[in-house]
Formats: sequence, C-alpha cells, structure tokens
Amino acid sequence: MRLVLFGPPGAGKGTQAKKIEAELGALQISTGDLLRQAQADGTALGLKAAEYMNAGNLVPDEVVVGLIEDRTSQDDCKSGFILDGFPRTLPQLESLDQMLKGKGEGLDRVVSIEVPNSLLMERLCGRYSCKACGAVMHERDFEEGAPKVCLTCQTDALYQRADDKPEAIEQRLRTFDDQTAPVKAKYEQMGLLSRIDGVGSPTAVFDRIKEVLN
Ligand code: AMP
Repeated sequence: MRLVLFGPPGAGKGTQAKKIEAELGALQISTGDLLRQAQADGTALGLKAAEYMNAGNLVPDEVVVGLIEDRTSQDDCKSGFILDGFPRTLPQLESLDQMLKGKGEGLDRVVSIEVPNSLLMERLCGRYSCKACGAVMHERDFEEGAPKVCLTCQTDALYQRADDKPEAIEQRLRTFDDQTAPVKAKYEQMGLLSRIDGVGSPTAVFDRIKEVLN
C-alpha cells in the first residue's frame, strides 16, 4: 500500500500513520521526522532546515524531494509506505508522481484528515513529543502537578517542539493555506482523495481511516 496522509499541522497525521503502520504494515515516512533527525545529527542539511522549520516555513522543495527519493528507495519500503507531511507543495506532488511513475508505481489513496483551525491551535500549543519512542501527547493527558513522563514508554524524554510556539504555529497554518491546500485540490482532481473527520479520539479517527482503506 502506498498512501499519503494529508492534513494541516496538528491534524493527527503522525499519530494515525503510526497506527496504520502497526496494523497494516506499511512504513511511516515523515519528512518532519527526517528533518528533525538531520538536525539532531548536526548535518549541514539539518542545520539549514532548522532555520525554515523554527520560523514555521517550508524547507525548499529540492531538499525534501531528495530525502523522500532516498528513503523510499530503501528495501524496507518495498511493500509500501505512508507519507506523513509530504507532499506539501504542488512541485513536490509532481516530483512524487514522476518518481513513482518511473518505477511503474502509483499512490493507492490520499487520506485528508480534516480538523477546524480553532482546534489545531489548541492541540499544537499543548503538544508534547517523546524523543525515545516518538509518541505524541497533550498537556491535558497529564495529572496536575505530576512529573511529565511519556505515557507510552514511561521515559522522561518528553519535549515541546521549537515550532509548537504560538507565532510559529500561526505561520505554519498560514503556510498550509497558501502552499499546501492546493495539493489537496490536485489530488481530488486526480480521483485519489478521501476526506476523514479528524475530530475525536485517535481510535475513532483511525476507525474512519480503516473504513476508507477497506
Ligand atoms: P511536521 O513534523 O510534518 O509538522 O513538519 C515540521 C516542519 O518540517 C514543517 O513546518 C516544515 O518546516 C518542515 N517540513 C516537513 N515536511 C516538509 C515538506 N514536505 N516540505 C517542506 N517542509 C517540510
């Protein structure tokens, strides 16, 4: 299965990609995670990308397209992948299309997770991510006054992303409307798009995705 999970920041793409990966076996590929890893490794690419990311802007197309080409050509992607956060611009969509066509492949489906803007801001402002296991949780999930340990792996490796600050979030949402929304229209034209209501528990949203994929 080759799937694109589409949606604004905070829609739950990462959470749902992990669920699909666990249940259906296709590998999650998150361009945001690849860029954050490059940043943590201190590579030139990672350090350059951080400037764009921390300001809430998109990293240049050629950088992310290169990352996706490398990652999807590895052996563990042979049985499929879930793209989480890619493509985010029309040129990225075109590059992906050409890349897959070149291998005689195509996307099976694009699932758009739809969440109102008012809820996105609230979700992102209180978001905690785990460096150890990649789980994502929210401020409201913790008991008041209790130490914040990861609710999945119990380590104290939680952190708040540098771009989960109100000014960066506002810019990310603007960037989504200006540069990424046209990607959805294009996939709709191509007959690949399914829209999913992204409001509700992760399990409820996952059930809706499974319905579409079945
Ligand atoms: P995410 O983890 O998907 O929220 O991505 C975090 C940040 O990484 C984004 O705000 C962008 O700065 C950058 N990024 C991730 N994916 C892409 C992409 N496909 N194109 C350009 N920039 C990206």
